[in-house]
Amino acid sequence: MAEKFDLIVVGAGMAGNAAAYTAAKAGLKVLQIERGEYPGSKNVQGAILYADAIEKIIPDFRESAPLERHLIEQRVWVLDDDSYVGSNYRSEEFNREPYNRYTIIRAQFDRWFSEQVTKAGGLVICETTVQQLLMDGQRVVGVRTDRKNGDVFADCVILADGVNSLLAKRAGFHEELKPKDIALAVKEIHFLPQETIEARFNIGEDEGVVIEMAGKVTAGMMGTAFLYTNKESITLGIGCMLSDFKNQKITPYQLLEQMKEHPAIKPLLAGSEMKEYAAHLIPEGGYNAMPPVYGDGWMIAGDAGMFVNGIHREGSNLAMTTGQIAAQTLIDLKTAGKECSAKNLKNYRERLDQSFVMKDLKKYRHMPEVFHKNSQFFTTYPELLNRAAHTMVKVDGIDKKSKEREIRGSFVQARSLFGLLGDAFKLWRAFQ
Ligand code: FAD
Repeated sequence: MAEKFDLIVVGAGMAGNAAAYTAAKAGLKVLQIERGEYPGSKNVQGAILYADAIEKIIPDFRESAPLERHLIEQRVWVLDDDSYVGSNYRSEEFNREPYNRYTIIRAQFDRWFSEQVTKAGGLVICETTVQQLLMDGQRVVGVRTDRKNGDVFADCVILADGVNSLLAKRAGFHEELKPKDIALAVKEIHFLPQETIEARFNIGEDEGVVIEMAGKVTAGMMGTAFLYTNKESITLGIGCMLSDFKNQKITPYQLLEQMKEHPAIKPLLAGSEMKEYAAHLIPEGGYNAMPPVYGDGWMIAGDAGMFVNGIHREGSNLAMTTGQIAAQTLIDLKTAGKECSAKNLKNYRERLDQSFVMKDLKKYRHMPEVFHKNSQFFTTYPELLNRAAHTMVKVDGIDKKSKEREIRGSFVQARSLFGLLGDAFKLWRAFQ
C-alpha cells in the first residue's frame, strides 16, 4: 500500500510554499512535489514582495529571508515615443521598519521559503513532475508522478502548479486558457555596481525604487512595463496579452529592445551588463475568467486559479494568501473530523470571498474587457497627455489660455466629444 498523506501540494512557488508551510506547521502530514531542480529554479517574477502576505505566514521572515532592497519610492510613467508624463510617491514612512515592500530574487527567496517548509516538518521532493491526478470516481485521491512507483495518496491535493495548470485541465476542472486571458512577460536583469544604482536613483543603501510604465511602450497592446532596483542589479520587463502579440505579429523581445532605447530608460541602464533573460505567462483574465477553485478532494491556489491583480501588479501576495487560506481550510476540516468533500471545501471559496483577494479581483472585473476593446488607452491618450504636458511646459510667448484651448482641441480632434465622454465612462467602469 502506497504511503498516504493528509495533504499533497503540487508546486513549490509562492502559493505551494505558503500552503505546505501552513499545513506542516499545524502538524499535518504534508508532501510537496516540485518539478524544478530546486524551488524557485523555474519561477519568474519582477520581483516585488509584499511583506503583509508573508508576514501573516512567517511573522519573523525579515530575520532570515533573502531580501534585496526595501522600496521607498514608486514612480508611474505614461510614455510617448520620446517623453513621459509621470508621478512619484516617495515617503520616509517607507523607510521606517518594519518595511512594507521589498525587491527579491525568486530563485533565492523560493529556496529559503522551501527550507521553512522542511523545518516545519513538510516533506519536499524536487525534480519530480506530477503527471496526473489520481481519481476515485469524481474525487481526487492522490497524484501520479514521473518517478518509478510514483503514485502517492492524500486526503486532499492543493494544485499550486502555476499559470496554465495542466493538471487541472487534464482532470477537466477547467478549460484551455484563452490567449486574451494570459499575458506574456519578458524580463532582463542588468548588473551595475551598488553605488551606481544608488546615485542613479537617488537612494541610500538598501533603499529601492519601482518604476511602473504604460503607454506607447507596449505598441498599442494591452500591457505594462516595469523597472525595479535590486542590490546590485536592475530588473526590467514588459508584458502584453498573448492575443495582442498574436494579432500584432510583434515579439516580446522586440518590444523589450525598443523599450531599452527609450530616452528616459536608456541612461538608467548605461554601462550595465545583462546577465539573465526570462519569459513567463501571467494569468490576467481576472474575476470573470476564474476557474472553479475547489472540488472533491482538491483546491487550487495562486496563478493556477487566476489569482492575479494585473492592474496593481500583485500576484505573489495573492498566491501566498490563497495558499494559506486553502491550507487553513483543510486544517479546520481535519480538526473538526470532517472529510474533504466538495461540500465541505466550499468553505475555501467562502473564505476567499471574504478576503482582499476576491474583493480586489471583483472590483476590477470589467477591466480586462474594457482595455481589450479600447486600445486608445495605450496609444492615443499617452500621446495626447505627453503633447499636453509639452505644450504647457514649453515657454514660447503663447498665452496660457490659448495653450489650454489648443490642448482641449487636440483631445476633441483625436476622440470627438462623445468619444471622450464614452472613454471617461469606460475608465470609470473599469475601476469600479
Ligand atoms: P509559480 O511561482 O509559477 O509556482 C508554480 C510551481 O509549480 C513552479 O515551481 C513549477 O515548477 C511547479 N510545477 C508546475 N507544474 C508542476 C508539476 N506538474 N509537477 C510539479 N511541479 C510543478 N507578482 C508580484 O507579486 N510582484 C511582482 O513584482 C510580480 N512581477 C512579475 C513579473 C513577471 C515578469 C511575471 C511573469 C510575474 C510577476 N508577478 C509578480 C506574478 C507572480 O510571479 C506570480 O503571481 C506568482 O509567482 C504565482 O505563484 P504560484 O506559486 O502560483 O506559481
